[in-house]
Amino acid sequence: MDTQAVRRDFPILRQLVHGKPLVYLDSAATSQKPEPVLRALDEYYRTYNANVHRGVHVLSELATERYEAARARVARFIHAPGPESILFVRNTTEAINLVAYAWGRAHLRPGDEVVLNPMEHHSNLIPWQLTARATGAHLRFLDLTPTGEIDWNSVDRVLGPRTRLLAVTQVSNVLGTINPVAELVAAAHRVGALALVDGAQSVPHMPVDVTALDCDFLAFSGHKMLASMGIGVLYGKPDILAEMDPFFGGGEMIDEVTLESATWKEIPWKFEAGTPNVAGAISLAAACNYLDQLGMAQVQEHGSSLAHYALAQMQQIPGVEVYGPPADRPRGALVAFNVRGIHPHDLSTILDQEGIAIRAGHHCAQPIHQWLHIPASARASFYIYNTPAEVDYLIAALQRAKEYFAHVLG
Ligand code: PMP
Repeated sequence: MDTQAVRRDFPILRQLVHGKPLVYLDSAATSQKPEPVLRALDEYYRTYNANVHRGVHVLSELATERYEAARARVARFIHAPGPESILFVRNTTEAINLVAYAWGRAHLRPGDEVVLNPMEHHSNLIPWQLTARATGAHLRFLDLTPTGEIDWNSVDRVLGPRTRLLAVTQVSNVLGTINPVAELVAAAHRVGALALVDGAQSVPHMPVDVTALDCDFLAFSGHKMLASMGIGVLYGKPDILAEMDPFFGGGEMIDEVTLESATWKEIPWKFEAGTPNVAGAISLAAACNYLDQLGMAQVQEHGSSLAHYALAQMQQIPGVEVYGPPADRPRGALVAFNVRGIHPHDLSTILDQEGIAIRAGHHCAQPIHQWLHIPASARASFYIYNTPAEVDYLIAALQRAKEYFAHVLG
């Protein structure tokens, strides 16, 4: 991959922050946007902005055509059987809530079980807590190994005849663990349960094939994969989606309405009430084109080798603690860490002065921080535009921050 050519496509990276070149290491929170995505957004608003489906005029036809073409493009990106299995939503959070409400509340009975694990993002935890409370279902949790991977011994113990759904992230946004999702989906299916995959940190960074994974649902966000904010995707197996009731009611999703009752459109439109984020969907299609041109295998190799490079260097610095699987295990494009004696928020403020953007806090994943027995962590996350030189710059800045604090604290 020609990283310098990629960087030229990202105008935001050309700026200085506090007089230093911006080193953006927070793509796990949201990615930056390349020219083709910016152009697609600009072109939409400048030349064919219109509402979809209802209009019978040229702009509306064009907007509708591009919106539906975007759906087909996303289906191809994740190897879905067809566009009807792609629902446009706001983000991963909304996608998982859609399943928890529209599927969960209709299917879960008192005593049924939803299986999660401690590395889940709050987006894949809170919706299930709420649904469990509403239905009388129980939450059960797989164990993690000491290095932060799913403990297979717990899979056979926890999954059982009461399991209705297994919900698991493909890549942890804190540990960087890549979970063996295909095997977990198969284990869920063996006990007659469905499987939902949180793809927020995987779909942007690695080849994901829902047909090969055989997952029943996959949720992800456009903004973490070069597209604009406010567009996300829920993939669902068509037969499961067809059988589900809608989540939101309103315009666009109906077939016939009387004062007393209504019938729904077919999938996917049954789940898309109200005016959708047309520009967002179009930007997501442009993002899929961009990523596929680079090749998702190359995208994964690039991000994961930067994460391994950062991990190896951080492990050399006394007082720096890194989390997640060891260096010889696969890892997503991120490293969470702590520098002894420095709160992650203070660290990120110091790094910001050097032009480096990292994230600090609990990263919307408090349970995994409890599991690690730490209140918070710092996280450097990488994408297609990051370079080994930026990792070196981060490492040098960490060393300086450590020395500064050692000096201040005596
Ligand atoms: N799951 C994981 C693993 C994530 O990393 C994130 C984003 N931090 C989400 C879910 C939620 O994504 P969004 O805020 O776009 O809904």
